[in-house]
Amino acid sequence: MRSDTVTQPSKAMRAAMANAVVGDDVFGEDATVNQLEALAAEHAGKEAALYLPTGVMANLTAFLAQSKPGDTVILHENAHPYRFEAANLARFGGLLTRPLGGPQGKLAPADIQAAIERGDNPHLSPTTVVSIENTTNIGGGAFYTPAEVHAIGALCAEANLRLHCDGARIFNAAVAQGCTVAELAAPCHSVSFCLSKGLGAPVGSMLASDAATIGEARRLRKQLGGGMRQAGIVAAAGIHALEYHVADLAEDHRRAREFRAQLESAGISFPLPSPTNIVMVASADPEGHVNRLRERGVLALAAGPESVRAVFHRDISDAGAARAAEVFLTVWPG
Ligand SMILES: *Cc1c(COP(=O)(O)O)cnc(C)c1O
Repeated sequence: MRSDTVTQPSKAMRAAMANAVVGDDVFGEDATVNQLEALAAEHAGKEAALYLPTGVMANLTAFLAQSKPGDTVILHENAHPYRFEAANLARFGGLLTRPLGGPQGKLAPADIQAAIERGDNPHLSPTTVVSIENTTNIGGGAFYTPAEVHAIGALCAEANLRLHCDGARIFNAAVAQGCTVAELAAPCHSVSFCLSKGLGAPVGSMLASDAATIGEARRLRKQLGGGMRQAGIVAAAGIHALEYHVADLAEDHRRAREFRAQLESAGISFPLPSPTNIVMVASADPEGHVNRLRERGVLALAAGPESVRAVFHRDISDAGAARAAEVFLTVWPG
């Protein structure tokens, strides 16, 4: 339960990988990668998409393609690119980050509006990109609704800014709300998502955008060393995930809900709501709790000074979830 990145590829997924038609993707000749990119673009409702090794590289290429050194990117203070990407925007983009607060990892339109710097004052670093996370990671798997994304998109359009969505878990956001990824991405100029999280592929992320931005992202991917050769072997797992695993995310959400309800009825509390597959459990001693859980066969993550994170994914069964709840109840408050 440390993360939804720990899933094992299923037998059917491994078969799809073994049978994949491949070619050299740096020459654009890998039919399986091309198929995955077309499928991802369709899901995102964008002109084009690019296959990248990781979500970090997908976000980085999105920022680099839509800004220049000296610009500012507005994001949440708990956003993945701000907290957990080792300052890559500063290191490789020469970008200033402007972190904002907001409950559940979400940005409020009024806060974005107040933080925008215009390009006409030579003292200032002009804002060129706003980035939202859907769903939020440290925010407990919270999602933006299509209407909320539209509100942010409208103010970005008004201020002539690019809107990026770090949609590492955007399929969770779509499934939880019964909408499409395309609806959630429509107001965004670019959207990234991970195949290697709840969707259950062993590796890979996608970036979708307009054709010109994806063209630039393709050059950036090469510059960053992310151009892969017979990548169809792993891309086949991504296609399999998009074809067969999306609907199953609802099961992860149900298990997270049931797990939380079981803990809640025993008096355990939670710092955040759990609308998707992430449950943040309040803890007076996260490291101690995580160690005691591990001794009893449950792997969770200390997430900050006051919570333990449990993430649901397709390799946690109903029986596994029930067992985990039992173990949490023996360890809390301890
Ligand atoms: C995991 C994650 C990423 C990065 O994905 P990697 O494939 O691990 O590089 C980016 N953003 C969010 C919100 C994430 O949860």
